[in-house]
Amino acid sequence: MTMEDLLNLPFFTDDQRSFARELDVNARQHTWPDPELDDAAALKGALATLGKSGSLKHAVGEPWSMRANVLAREVLAYHSGIADLAWAMQALGGVPLLIAGNDAQKQQILAKAITGEHCLGFAITEPDAGSDLSRLSLRAQKAGDEYFLTGEKHLVSNVGVADYFVLFARTSDERRGVSAFLLPTKLHGLSFELQRPLSPHPLGRMIFDKVKLPASALIGDEGDGMGIALGTLGRMRTTVAAAANGFARRALDEALKHAGQREMFGKTLAEQPIAQGILAEMRARLDASRLLTYRAAYEFDNGAKRIPMQAGIAKWQSTENAQWIIDKALQLGGGMAALHGSIFERLYREIRPLRIYEGASEVQQLVISSEMLKEAGNTDG
Ligand SMILES: Cc1cc2nc3c(=O)[nH]c(=O)nc-3n(C[C@H](O)[C@H](O)[C@H](O)COP(=O)(O)OP(=O)(O)OC[C@H]3O[C@@H](n4cnc5c(N)ncnc54)[C@H](O)[C@@H]3O)c2cc1C
Repeated sequence: MTMEDLLNLPFFTDDQRSFARELDVNARQHTWPDPELDDAAALKGALATLGKSGSLKHAVGEPWSMRANVLAREVLAYHSGIADLAWAMQALGGVPLLIAGNDAQKQQILAKAITGEHCLGFAITEPDAGSDLSRLSLRAQKAGDEYFLTGEKHLVSNVGVADYFVLFARTSDERRGVSAFLLPTKLHGLSFELQRPLSPHPLGRMIFDKVKLPASALIGDEGDGMGIALGTLGRMRTTVAAAANGFARRALDEALKHAGQREMFGKTLAEQPIAQGILAEMRARLDASRLLTYRAAYEFDNGAKRIPMQAGIAKWQSTENAQWIIDKALQLGGGMAALHGSIFERLYREIRPLRIYEGASEVQQLVISSEMLKEAGNTDG
């Protein structure tokens, strides 16, 4: 299944369609590195390829288009999870600077992020603060023109490979007393411990023992951190939906191919009525997810800069549908699909964390219902 059917709907400009088609052709022809062999090398290799192609200007450049990011992540996830991750982390590290960085920070980081020379990351989660970010406790204590950081982050992607992280730390005890910092990774007192995700990519803990940062590392003003974090996640959430759609579209393609070839009970699997019903539902769920995702991106790009309802629906539905589609694809694939190394098994592991990070499904449900209640005038919001 190509992207073509839905790409021609009026959500996109001709430039965006051309960008998606070209990225798709290049990503299909490229041999992406295998993260099962060496996740750090694979991430760096994928980032270098994207950097050379010039496409990362859409991830971390201005003007920033959600539609371009949605198209890119759907295409990349279809072909390679590590390529999608390289794109996503570059955007997660770059968008906070687009939102609130000063000229010096943008110049220092963004040009080399576009070429893939700088690898970026986004560090907010802590052992006691995941879905509930008001619980953040990593402390940035100001002394003169410097900050001293003490505490811990965990489950942070690109640990061990990123050159810079956008880091969120507490600068006051107020609920929203959080600030954002541009953090180089080679600093005295900063150490890393790797963690192993279901689907391999560089991930780990960051331990801060009185790590010194100059005040110039602050992004925006003190106390702006939560707004910068939520603004960034608000943009990236719809692109997580797009990545889920890319994984799901790949699973459906592979399932169609397999079902058309596998013979049983005197015909192919694709000719068995129950399998046809499953394939039909996979397609219907995928189309629904893609349309919800494209709607959210279209509305953001066309001026509705705040889209919690549309993004929440897109992320929740696309990630849950993708999990369902991939599970059914693996089922149609039979025993061989459940072996390590099969495409179905890889996608089965790739999709799982998307229902948890950048706002778990339950968090999206809360956002959607609270937006609806606000609209209905049942709460002050
Ligand atoms: C592969 C991977 C990569 C990641 N990369 C990064 C990264 O680069 N940077 C970073 O900062 N973090 C990253 N994370 C961390 C991720 O953002 C957190 O795991 C996520 O925010 C959830 O936080 P938590 O793990 O503490 O779960 P918790 O907050 O403890 O939530 C546990 C579960 O509770 C449920 N839940 C949550 N809220 C509610 C509610 N209100 N009502 C009912 N149920 C609820 C959800 O099912 C949720 O999964 C990554 C995680 C993974 C798995």
